Amino acid sequence: MNTEVTTTSQYPLTEALRQARAIRERLEDTYKISIDENGIWAGNGILRGTVIDDCDAVLSRDEQEQDYIYDAIGTAAAESSEMSGSIEISGTTWGWSLTEIDVSDAEAAVEEAQEALASSDEPRQWRCGDDGASWTITASSVAEALEKSNSGYDAPSPEEGTTWVHISCYCEDTGEDGSTTLAIDPEEPDCYADHEHDWLAPHSVVGGLKENPGVTGNGGGVVMEDVCRHCGRYRVTNTWAQDPYTGEQGLESVSYRDPDEASKRWVEREVLRAAMVAMDGMDEVVSYEEDFTDPENQQVFVELAQDANMDAFEDAMVGKVDGRLIVSDQNGRTVIYVGQYW
Ligand SMILES: [Zn+2]
Repeated sequence: MNTEVTTTSQYPLTEALRQARAIRERLEDTYKISIDENGIWAGNGILRGTVIDDCDAVLSRDEQEQDYIYDAIGTAAAESSEMSGSIEISGTTWGWSLTEIDVSDAEAAVEEAQEALASSDEPRQWRCGDDGASWTITASSVAEALEKSNSGYDAPSPEEGTTWVHISCYCEDTGEDGSTTLAIDPEEPDCYADHEHDWLAPHSVVGGLKENPGVTGNGGGVVMEDVCRHCGRYRVTNTWAQDPYTGEQGLESVSYRDPDEASKRWVEREVLRAAMVAMDGMDEVVSYEEDFTDPENQQVFVELAQDANMDAFEDAMVGKVDGRLIVSDQNGRTVIYVGQYW
């Protein structure tokens, strides 16, 4: 039997494995066969399926008759559940007995080829999937197959906090497999205007300990709540989240909440404080005074210079500080407050 492996493809180890497998498969349903004529040994050969090969027994001087006898013995041996038997053809008893062929070398060759491929960086095919879909990836290792699956993974943004998907990859050639959990975070909501969120943890809004506002213990981790100073949205980060599918704990999840009254009032104060900082450098501002006593009506009173124009001053504040600022006249006094653009 020719067990020599020729490798000409660009994937030599995959090709070698394919050939080793082909050799192993050819040995399936294959036996050594010994034939006798009326009890006298006639010759040995190989029975492959119903076909007898490599046998030098002369069963008849007539070639056509010989082919017929070979066919009849091969079919009888292949169809029999016994390892030996005989058939009668025109008064001659043809006996046959089968011996199993040792396939351990061929199996070892397959395993060796599998190991060679598994320990190489030759690209090979992986069948990967999540909890629903599956796909094929070419990669040089299970780590690479998982990484490629992760980076190409397209999941819709979860409505409520982080979710986890479970991706596994399996190589049919080598039997290698592996799996990974991929965290899908919700998409960060847009901030006010063109701002980037600026996440802070003001104690007046998020509560908790003064020295560690917005943080509460949760199992082996914490839940941290912070607020964006531009839009008032909340971001909640849980460092001890649990994957409901696997039960794994200690994962990080993130979720977002819409602004509420507390965060909106705080954003207003932040905007008014920024306005006061801006007014420090303005010639038209003589003085100003904050009044944050009524949360529903937080404002800054401003004394403008005699020749200052209120509209121009409002434009300046909107341009320098925040588009939500409104300057108006209240019983002869100039006040700045934040419009309700929520
Ligand atoms: Zn924001």
